Amino acid sequence: MDFDLTADQRQLKRDTIAFARRKLGSRVVDDDEGSRFPVEDWRKCADFGVLGWPVPTSYGGRGLDPLSTMIALEALGYGCADNGLVFAVNNHLWGCAIYILMHGTEEQKNRFLKPMCQGTLIGAHALSEPETGSDVLSLRTTAELDGDHYLLRGTKCFISNGPQADIFVVLARTGGQGGPQNELSAFLVTADLPGFKKTREFSKMGLRTTPLGEIEFDNVPVPAANRIGREGAGYSIFTSTIEWERSFMFASQVGAMERLLDTSLDHAGSRRQFGRTIGSFQAVAHQIADMKIRLELARLILYRVGWLKREGRLALLDATIAKIFVSESLVQTALSAVDIHGARGYLTDLGIERELRDALGGPIYAGTSSVQRGILAELLGLQGVLSGEPERPRRDTT
Ligand SMILES: Cc1cc2nc3c(=O)[nH]c(=O)nc-3n(C[C@H](O)[C@H](O)[C@H](O)COP(=O)(O)OP(=O)(O)OC[C@H]3O[C@@H](n4cnc5c(N)ncnc54)[C@H](O)[C@@H]3O)c2cc1C
Repeated sequence: MDFDLTADQRQLKRDTIAFARRKLGSRVVDDDEGSRFPVEDWRKCADFGVLGWPVPTSYGGRGLDPLSTMIALEALGYGCADNGLVFAVNNHLWGCAIYILMHGTEEQKNRFLKPMCQGTLIGAHALSEPETGSDVLSLRTTAELDGDHYLLRGTKCFISNGPQADIFVVLARTGGQGGPQNELSAFLVTADLPGFKKTREFSKMGLRTTPLGEIEFDNVPVPAANRIGREGAGYSIFTSTIEWERSFMFASQVGAMERLLDTSLDHAGSRRQFGRTIGSFQAVAHQIADMKIRLELARLILYRVGWLKREGRLALLDATIAKIFVSESLVQTALSAVDIHGARGYLTDLGIERELRDALGGPIYAGTSSVQRGILAELLGLQGVLSGEPERPRRDTT
């Protein structure tokens, strides 16, 4: 097992950190306060190639392998102070582009991926609904086949990038036989179709530079050619793709954890109280040590997922562990950073309080921590943890 980065990966990491520090996030304090999407910085990300990192060069991307993509996203998260911008990038890649890459037709890839890499089409993932959050199979949006179109009806909410996005991966109910898992289909829905309405932008605690919105489909005629995969395969497409979202989306959080550790270490080494640096007090030093432990373990589990995906293997178990561990670790690390900086950690200008606000969404989006723990328990063989269904009798496997 080789834990070293290659020369190319080290260079990619250095270049990305330098780009993100120099070019991104300079207006984050104001943009956060005004909940503004940083359009200019989005364009810079496109020009640097960020929006096409995992996309093959034949479709306009940079063609990075999954492990290198993970490393680049971590570097972006480390160098860019605007976590909202980085979250918008990750939603574009792992909520939308990855569905086209993994399950799209040649026609869909040729049509959508190039403008997505160029940043002129912004992607989003529209799954959640007013009555449907964790319980994906109960979603109510319907898609009814009508000639060569599906008529889409329903409402989707809490859609990251929604107010800015041009193309949405939408899961809708098409009906069918064989139980709820075969009743959903996935579609690529563009915002220019008649009956597509962006109805609301939500105000929120953190990640305020990523717009979060609600959309309505009022008999939207979605071409059948925009269906992803076969009719009824939506849920299996979702479950096979979500392992990318639940891991790669969190690589940038590892970068944010390292940035918080650096800042806290500097402060602990320079701030003096009682005639000593505060880092010499065990209460502070142990928090710094815990920040480092979380950082290294978070990086290890994510690189493992990156490696598994590079080898073309399933990574659901590891991605689930990664989602829980990284998102919860970032919250703990941000809390420690606020504590170590005292009143300065609580002020807006330094940005530490913003890091905490930004971190708190992580254990909710892409599936809550509780639901991830339920998935993990079920992957380990326990039954009915998520659905509450009665246990089936154990089959004798000997
Ligand atoms: C910043 C942010 C960005 C988001 N972006 C998107 C997006 O781009 N696209 C999108 O579709 N959605 C998005 N969401 C929505 C997100 O996916 C949902 O909030 C999440 O899946 C939980 O759904 P819910 O909010 O309806 O909570 P609910 O499902 O109502 O859950 C409420 C509580 O009950 C618990 N719970 C529910 N079921 C179980 C169970 N079986 N076992 C144990 N506990 C359970 C949950 O853990 C939680 O604590 C975003 C959310 C946030 C905060």
